Amino acid sequence: MQYALVSGQRSTPQPGLVGACPACNWPTVSKCGTKVMWHWAHKARRHCDPWWENETEWHRHWKSLFPDDAREVAHFDATTGEKHVADIKTETGLIIELQHSPMPSEELRAREHFYKNMIWIVDARPFAGQFHILGKLPPPDCDLVEDIVFYPQRHRDTGPGGFWRPSENPEPRGLVLYHSINEISKEIELLYQGHHFFEWIRPRAIWFDATAPVLLDFGGPCLWRLRAYDDRGLWSVQRTSKDAFIAENGGNPE
Ligand SMILES: [Zn+2]
Repeated sequence: MQYALVSGQRSTPQPGLVGACPACNWPTVSKCGTKVMWHWAHKARRHCDPWWENETEWHRHWKSLFPDDAREVAHFDATTGEKHVADIKTETGLIIELQHSPMPSEELRAREHFYKNMIWIVDARPFAGQFHILGKLPPPDCDLVEDIVFYPQRHRDTGPGGFWRPSENPEPRGLVLYHSINEISKEIELLYQGHHFFEWIRPRAIWFDATAPVLLDFGGPCLWRLRAYDDRGLWSVQRTSKDAFIAENGGNPE
C-alpha cells in the first residue's frame, strides 16, 4: 500500500511512522528501504482484503501515473457492508484494477460485480513470450467484414492467412471457397483501427471470461485490448496508446 491513515489523514510512508489500514483499520508499519518504493504493510502479516495482490513494482509504477487521491480508494457496498480497496479510481468513477497474477474465476466475477464500472490492466510481461500479435484485421463492425469469415492465424503459419464468404457458401458443411487475405489487404489497411489477430499459447483463459475491458500491458508504449471479434469464436487484440489511455483517465503520462 502507498497510503495509510495517520491521525486520520491519508499519508505516504515515512521512516518510523505507524498508521492504520484504510480498509480494516489494522496497524500498518512504514517500509522505507532502498530496494523497493516506500510502502505500508500490515503489522504481523494480516490480509484484510482478499483481493489485494502482493504489490510489484509494476503496480506501484502504474499507480504513480495517477493523482494521489485516485490511488487506493476504499469502496463500500452499503447493503452488504463489503469493503475493498480499488487500485485506481478516476474522477469519472471508473475503477482501474491492476492485475499481475492469475486469479480464480469466482474472484474475477466477484470483483466485476462489486466494482461494475471497471477496467482490467493485466501485466502481460510474464506471458509475452507465448503471445504472438499477428496480422491486421479491419474493425469488426465495418461493412467489409459483413460477408467475411476469417480463419484464425497462427504464428507458425507461412501464408498470409485467409477467409471465406457466407454468400458464396450458403451451406458451409464441407469445403468452402477459400480467399487469401491478400485480396483485401488494401481495404484492411485503409480501415485499420488497431485490430490484430493473435495466438496465445497456454493462455490464461480467465481473461476470456471477463465482462469488463481487459487491456494487456506488455511493457511497451501500447496497451492491447483483448476482445471477441466475431460470433464464431475469433478473438482479436486492439492496439491503443498507453499515454493516451493514461491522459484520458486523468493521469500523467511519463
Ligand atoms: Zn487492512
